Amino acid sequence: MAKVEKKCSFCGRPESQVEFFIMGQGSTQICNECAVQAAEIVKENSTSRTKMPSLKKDDVPKPVEIKKYLDQYIIGQDEAKKFLSVAVYNHYKRLMQERTNDDVEIEKSNIIMVGYTGTGKTLLARTIAKKLHVPFTIVDATVLTEAGYVGEDIESILTRLLQVADYDVKAAERGIVFIDEIDKIARKGDNPSITRDVSGEGVQQGLLKLLEGSVVNVPPQGGRKHPDQKMIPVNTQNILFICGGAFDGIEKKIASRLNTRVVGYNAAIKNEQVDKNNMLQYIAPQDLKSFGLIPEIIGRLPILTYLEPLDRTALRRILTEPKNSIIKQYSKLFGMDKIELVFTDEVLDYIVDKAIEFKLGARGLRSITETIIMDKMYEMPSAHEDKLQITLDYAKTKIEKTNINRLKIS
Ligand code: ADP
Repeated sequence: MAKVEKKCSFCGRPESQVEFFIMGQGSTQICNECAVQAAEIVKENSTSRTKMPSLKKDDVPKPVEIKKYLDQYIIGQDEAKKFLSVAVYNHYKRLMQERTNDDVEIEKSNIIMVGYTGTGKTLLARTIAKKLHVPFTIVDATVLTEAGYVGEDIESILTRLLQVADYDVKAAERGIVFIDEIDKIARKGDNPSITRDVSGEGVQQGLLKLLEGSVVNVPPQGGRKHPDQKMIPVNTQNILFICGGAFDGIEKKIASRLNTRVVGYNAAIKNEQVDKNNMLQYIAPQDLKSFGLIPEIIGRLPILTYLEPLDRTALRRILTEPKNSIIKQYSKLFGMDKIELVFTDEVLDYIVDKAIEFKLGARGLRSITETIIMDKMYEMPSAHEDKLQITLDYAKTKIEKTNINRLKIS
């Protein structure tokens, strides 16, 4: 009897016309092409299904626990850490609130962080998301413009969140979005302009819709929406938005507000008590308004906090203390080749000095360290040595040979 050729149980094609079969129960099998198609269908449909289990109260860490976790990765910034921990805790409690008859509905607590660039805003947001195991994405507000102009639609902010959630809409709907450089969409000038301000007020108006919670049609591939594209509706009601910005020059607005208040009857902070080196600590919503954020946006970002500028001590701690500090990372890299890497204290101080001297901030610590040990990373894996001690003289020769502008990358 002639042997019966196996056929794909889905498309019916015989074995000779396909690359291979994946065998199923009994006499069923699926060909490679049908398997690929099936995977795509699963992926598409997963947008309407919940993959993530629902949040339970015990899953949400308490504020003290969140802050302790943040402490392992971020140096200083206690105020911002506390504000964030409480806001995030309340946010997730809000997701679990049961419908009751008491008319008390907990409102959304989106956050805005003001602080110089490189002081840890992104790191804070990223670390919180890691702790909570929720989808997290960073978007840069500078690419956003009003529909019809060059740039990206506001809705594309949610595209990235969908992508990291693997198009699991339910998971994305309780994720965290970090909007960086929010200050760049401030209205230029204090007066509402009659001319078009495509990257300013228009974008703020668009952003409002997202922040306050509504169902938004998101282009799955991002960029500009076009008519033939299938949109994915995403409800932003439970998405936590954390905004960050340097707000260059806002200190002047804060100072002038404090000055006027000092003259007034209700002077809360006396002029002589004002710490002029760290004006951001006095930030108030009206300063954001003077800077050019519209009041509606400010109202949707009720938690306002600030980051401290990083001084020498903080930079020195950042080098070695966080759980994945730069020095720990390089030690691990060398350790994989069974080489013990040792930096003397004076080298660590020197790295910090250079970061301050060239105004590179915390970001510069990595590029400076990398410059110092680059040659060693090249040579040592073949050198059959088990210890590498970096001395101050060695570090100095490497840095002095370098064009410092090259370090100003990130
Ligand atoms: P920002 O978002 O405020 O511009 P980032 O969070 O991106 O700054 O910080 C840049 C890098 O500098 C981080 O990836 C981290 O390595 C380091 N860094 C900045 N601030 C801190 C901090 N407070 N603690 C530990 N590392 C920090």
